Amino acid sequence: MNYHLPRLERLLLRPELEEQQKEVWRPTWRCFCCQDTGFVQDSLIRLVIPDYNSDKDRSVACRNCERVYIYAELVRDSLDWRFTPDTCEKLDRIYRDDWARTLAYQNQLRKQALGLVDELAERKSIRLRRRSPEEEMEVRRKHEEAIDR
Ligand SMILES: [Zn+2]
Repeated sequence: MNYHLPRLERLLLRPELEEQQKEVWRPTWRCFCCQDTGFVQDSLIRLVIPDYNSDKDRSVACRNCERVYIYAELVRDSLDWRFTPDTCEKLDRIYRDDWARTLAYQNQLRKQALGLVDELAERKSIRLRRRSPEEEMEVRRKHEEAIDR
């Protein structure tokens, strides 16, 4: 009996996400205050309630989006509604800015890593063969650019 099974390639549920993930992962939430859950994130709650304890205290309703209204009344009744839309909007902004900085930093790291790969490839090519005059000029131009910075 022949047990050879066919080999198939992955069939992605959402190919566009895979494409994004080749780059630095970035959040797709519309509301950064609650990450589209309707409940303000614990780390953001603590900016307003420093000793907030998620095991004992009520979850905080996000007022930056209407998301929390999809939940049953019972759930909504058990929430802490003291955060105003203005507070939630500010928390959204804080976390959004935080992400922007994180992404900028990760992109910088990524560029550095890619630069390193290029440099290694270049070194390897030197060992394998001599550069053509055009390549030599390009390398010198890059060096001068690097020095000018
Ligand atoms: Zn929200």
